[in-house]
This record gives sequence, C-alpha cells and structure tokens, in this order.
Amino acid sequence: MNVLVTGGAGFIGSHFIRHLLHKQQGDMVVNLDALTYAADMRNLADIEENYHYQFIQGNIENRELVYHLMRTYEIDVIVNFAAETHVDRSITQPDVFIGTNVLGTQVLLDAALHFGASRFVQISTDEVYGSLGEAGYFTETSPLAPSSPYSSSKAGADLLVLAYHRTFGLPVNITRCSNNYGPHQHPEKLIPRMITRAMQNKRLPVYGKGENVRDWLHVKDHAEAVLRVLQQGKSGEVYNIGGHNEWNNLSLVKLLLELLGKDEQLVEYVQDRPGHDLRYAIDASKIQQELDWKPTRSFQEGLIETIEWYMERYAKLDVGERTQIAQVLQ
Ligand code: NAD
Repeated sequence: MNVLVTGGAGFIGSHFIRHLLHKQQGDMVVNLDALTYAADMRNLADIEENYHYQFIQGNIENRELVYHLMRTYEIDVIVNFAAETHVDRSITQPDVFIGTNVLGTQVLLDAALHFGASRFVQISTDEVYGSLGEAGYFTETSPLAPSSPYSSSKAGADLLVLAYHRTFGLPVNITRCSNNYGPHQHPEKLIPRMITRAMQNKRLPVYGKGENVRDWLHVKDHAEAVLRVLQQGKSGEVYNIGGHNEWNNLSLVKLLLELLGKDEQLVEYVQDRPGHDLRYAIDASKIQQELDWKPTRSFQEGLIETIEWYMERYAKLDVGERTQIAQVLQ
C-alpha cells in the first residue's frame, strides 16, 4: 500500500505518519505539506531517513503536483489531514480556509478518482456538528450545523467527500474527532498556549466565563483510530472519534496550573469568541463496536507527558524562535 498523507508536518498528521511507519503499514508513505506557519519539520525529524518515507513540500490545491505524485509513487490511498485549523484565524481570514479545506480537498478527490485509489480518508472534526446544549452527544447522523468559517469549510469538504462516493463510487471514509492534545501541537492552540504562557508566568486568557466544554483525546489514540478506519472502515461510512473526556475550559486551565505548580491567579477572563460553540461531545460507539477501537491513554498522564515535552522543547529554543512564539502567544 502506497499512502499519500497530506498535512503530515502538522500536529496530528505527523503522529499518524509515525504510527503508520511503526506499524509497517505503508510500503511508501508520501507526505505532502505546504509548510504553512502551522507546520514544523522537527515533528518528523526522527523518521526523515526512513526508507519508506518521502517528504514533498507543496500545496494540495496544486493539481499538477498532486497528479504527478499519484503517478510517480503509484498511490493507492489518500489520507487528508491538510487544513487550515485555527478557528480564531478563520474569523479574520476565511478565504484561505475555503482554499485549502474545500478546494484542496476537491483536488485530492479528483486525483483519487482519476488514479483509481482504493480509499480516500478525510480527517474531519466534531465541530461540523455545531454546538450541543448541556446534554446529549453527536452521532454520525447528527445534522451538520457548523458555526465558524473553519467548521463550515470542513463541513463543505465532508459533503464533497460523500458526494464523490455517491456520484462516482469513490471508496471513502470520513473521521470526525474531538479535540486532540499531546506533544508537537502548535502553541496557538488551547493546551500548548496555556502551558507555554504559564511556564513564563504570563496571564492565561480564558474566553467568556470558561464554560465552553470540549472532549479531549490523546493524539496517539486518534492516530490509531484513523489507521483502523483506513484498514477496516466500510466504504462510504463516517466514524466519530472521541475520548468521553469532557472538560470545561476553566477546569482544564486550572488542572494545567495545578500540574505545573502555578497559581490560579494567572487566569484572566477575556471577551468571548464570536459564535463560540458551548459544548462538543462525541458518541464514539460506532467505531468502538465496528472497529474495536477505544481510547487507551489516561488524560492526567497524557497531560503530564505533554507538559514535560513543552518544557523540554521550550528550553531548547533559540532567541528567534522564542520571539516567534511570543508573537503567537500575544
Ligand atoms: P495543524 O494546523 O497542526 O497542521 C496542518 C498541516 O497542514 C500543517 O502542516 C500545514 O502546513 C498543512 N497545510 C495547510 N494548508 C495546506 C495546503 N494547502 N497544502 C498542503 N498542506 C497544507 O492541524 P492538526 O491539528 O494536525 O489537524 C489536522 C487535521 O485534523 C485537520 O484537518 C483538522 O481539521 C483535523 N482535526 C483536528 C483536531 C485538533 O484538535 N487539532 C480535531 C479534530 C480534527
């Protein structure tokens, strides 16, 4: 099996590639990544020399390049992680989200169809379902009701993927996962942002009253879930992936402060994000029952490992890199 993984220099894609190679599940794994601000080649430093791995810098919207890679590497399977992923940025700059997340996905779907790929796996998000109230869970049949330009671009891509299955018979799957955490995540995202700010005794900005609830899953559990879907998923099916691990933002930030040995006084309440979804929670019983997947990592241990990783990474940064991170953390 020759696999084209897109967005593999980002957070989840890099963990997935490492997992794929570790499980010896790719004769050739080609990583196509545009290396946007969100990418970090250090995420893959340990596998650069792997004989079964090839990195290509490029944009998924570049049809000529994508077709060239499909042909050259005789790609059987595409797993699409490439995306613009930060909700706050999508509010100020929606156009780039539509370009990568919708149009880029369409180019990859065309390529899969043109070259007769045996599977196309689209990595989506629970955010496509919109917001829940205080009770209930998203299932795979919950209506799509995205709130932000980010989640609507992901929902648009999901609809295209399903349309290519129904119209052209392309073998596809969609995975919709809850919030991921773990090493290698960009410091603009909630958990690394809070860890790196707290390490420097900076205030921790919490939106609104910190009541928004998210379900957290370790990135390595997500990587294994995607592999199960790729290997055993029924064509045309959507699989929700979640950790049954709900935390409101304020409790999570306080837990991080406790693990870091820092004072709760660092918390600073800031004006809420427009259109901020109150709660996401995933019913992952389908993937558990059909593909025998369930999360394996303890949240507290995973957070401690993540904190240690950021402390070590931060200690190794040079002045230029620290300044760059400081700008992101503003
Ligand atoms: P990330 O922002 O860390 O990485 C995205 C990667 O995609 C980067 O390496 C970037 O360079 C690359 N990329 C962006 N635009 C590209 C383009 N046009 N062409 C080629 N490469 C491009 O993202 P992540 O957190 O690893 O998320 C990966 C996927 O998982 C996304 O599709 C996201 O919607 C989905 N997802 C993320 C989470 C989460 O909690 N992070 C949860 C559920 C689903």
